[in-house]
Amino acid sequence: MIRFEQVTKRYADGTTAVADLSFEVAEGELVTLVGPSGCGKTTTMKMVNRLVEPTSGRVLLGGEDVSAADPVELRRRIGYVIQQVGLFPHRTVLENTATVPRLLGTSKARARARAAELLELVGLDPSVYGGRYPEQLSGGQRQRVGVARALAADPPVLLMDEPFGAVDPVVRERLQHEFLALQRSVRKTVLLVTHDLEEAVRLGDRIAVYGHGRIEQLDAPAAVLAAPAGPYVASFVGADRGLKRLSVTRVARTDLEPLPAPVRPGTPEAADGANPPTASVVLGASLREALSALLQEDSGRIAVTDPDSGERLGLLTVAGVHRALRAAQA
Ligand code: ADP
Ligand code: MG
Repeated sequence: MIRFEQVTKRYADGTTAVADLSFEVAEGELVTLVGPSGCGKTTTMKMVNRLVEPTSGRVLLGGEDVSAADPVELRRRIGYVIQQVGLFPHRTVLENTATVPRLLGTSKARARARAAELLELVGLDPSVYGGRYPEQLSGGQRQRVGVARALAADPPVLLMDEPFGAVDPVVRERLQHEFLALQRSVRKTVLLVTHDLEEAVRLGDRIAVYGHGRIEQLDAPAAVLAAPAGPYVASFVGADRGLKRLSVTRVARTDLEPLPAPVRPGTPEAADGANPPTASVVLGASLREALSALLQEDSGRIAVTDPDSGERLGLLTVAGVHRALRAAQA
């Protein structure tokens, strides 16, 4: 859907922001660009909606070279969310959200109805917040409006530059979770820039780890954490990457041990270890969640249940968590 072909950007003062960049974001995929400040992430993103023009190479959107598109028309087709949000201070939340559909010629009534739907979708009751002005919102609420506004014209592509950067860590994590849930239903093609590895790993289907002006590794978060492509990526993802992997690796059937046979009525004493553990997680939960439950459980085992039926499928032990991490690495 978004394709970079040998793209280089050199600014007028001679700074090479990105060099010979080639990669692709598939339709419906969320790719995070992560790396230290100044490594070229924002420059990369701005070449998609032509806020920055490449010095050489091409950027294709749905197979079309963006340099051939009218920039204004192009930007109306691409949702853009930035940290500073950029809401119009003298327009209400509802008016801000309806801006792009109005520009695209949607009638006022329809644009407002759509804006109200989107505010609802990002967790802001339109009857409470729709009439407020941006300065009457918290930072987190403003960022939600930014996301709603970017989605209002139903663009196939979203560019997000540090979209959850300006809020405290608790609100940030909540916004990330809400955005993930939203993305599961809207399935946009998303390029998201962040300097925060946790955020990149949590949100990305794949993450692109930037060094200076180039991508050092582009792969699924679990794969990058399990096998960094070199010393630079290893040091960027950190010495605790084993722990970070717990968040991106899921409990699978093959990690489980069988349930103990039910104790027959009339048996005087339950066999050692036959008491089923009380704590459980669902199949597909993260290893992080599973390990956390395990550490609370005296028996050293938790039950793993079917997410739909609730049926117990097997037991998970710390050794099972270890096996699961090793298997994910292989
Ligand atoms: P990031 O988003 O990863 O922090 P940027 O893409 O903003 O990085 O910047 C990459 C490099 O390009 C930096 O060295 C930055 O100073 C430089 N740069 C960004 N914008 C301009 C500009 N308009 N003119 C000159 N240099 C710029
Ligand atoms: Mg930036």
